Amino acid sequence: MTELPDRRLLLVHAHPDDESINNGATMAKYAAEGAHVTLVTCTLGEEGEVIPPELAHLEPHREGGLGPYRTGELSAAMKELGVTDHRFLGGPGRYRDSGMMGLEQNHRAGAFWAADVDAAAADLVAVIREVRPQVLVTYDPDGGYGHPDHIQAHRVAMRAAELAADAGQPIAKIYWNRVPRTVAEEAFARLREALPELPFGEAAAIDDVPGVVDESVITTEIDGTAYAAAKSAAMRAHATQIEVAEPYFALSNELAQPIFTTEYYELVRGERGESGERGGAAPETDLFEGVSL
Ligand SMILES: [Zn+2]
Repeated sequence: MTELPDRRLLLVHAHPDDESINNGATMAKYAAEGAHVTLVTCTLGEEGEVIPPELAHLEPHREGGLGPYRTGELSAAMKELGVTDHRFLGGPGRYRDSGMMGLEQNHRAGAFWAADVDAAAADLVAVIREVRPQVLVTYDPDGGYGHPDHIQAHRVAMRAAELAADAGQPIAKIYWNRVPRTVAEEAFARLREALPELPFGEAAAIDDVPGVVDESVITTEIDGTAYAAAKSAAMRAHATQIEVAEPYFALSNELAQPIFTTEYYELVRGERGESGERGGAAPETDLFEGVSL
């Protein structure tokens, strides 16, 4: 693969839909600007709850089939974002959705949560050696909100970065997905005002949003305003999981959340770019800032 673009971005997510919710605008922006964007999704999301009643038969305790169906939703979402390189860790169905924390599915054979971290990381190292990304995006150690597959995706991504570096393929910058608490509070205040007009009964709690942290933790913000429509369309493509009423959405719990079109990150490995503004104190505005290409 000598023909890859200069800038290469790898994102590691737990289930189909997480990429569009967390990073949809970022992915659309970098794809549109000619960077190579690679999405690795760790499971098919077989344990998800299904929103549309006419598709409820796909749930695992009924007929099943949600995994392959969500694979199709993911492909449709990637078309909306302009991302052509999307894969499942170890191939489709290699690791199974573990369900929410505490369920017996967590420990079932094949569940991602039960996988050996080094073995799963080896599957990701193969992708890293092929694509040679300078930037990796994944979750914080809590997986953003404590879901076992999100925690495991974090562990596997971070371990794979170590193993790839040992094998001579270091990744220059690693970011965790974040949302500044002040931004979340303002967005939820607007949401509560808009709630009577929305098809959702109640607002989610701020702590339902993955990765909310104090603003001082944020190193980087990607203004995805120009890609807001692409992000919403990608989220809408995950119709078994997400109901969209722009600029808001809800998961199967029907609790409304804001769609963030500016996406926020915490740089945890690598050098922060020398953003000239505010004497270098301003957040980076490019994940590749400072990376020698
Ligand atoms: Zn997820």
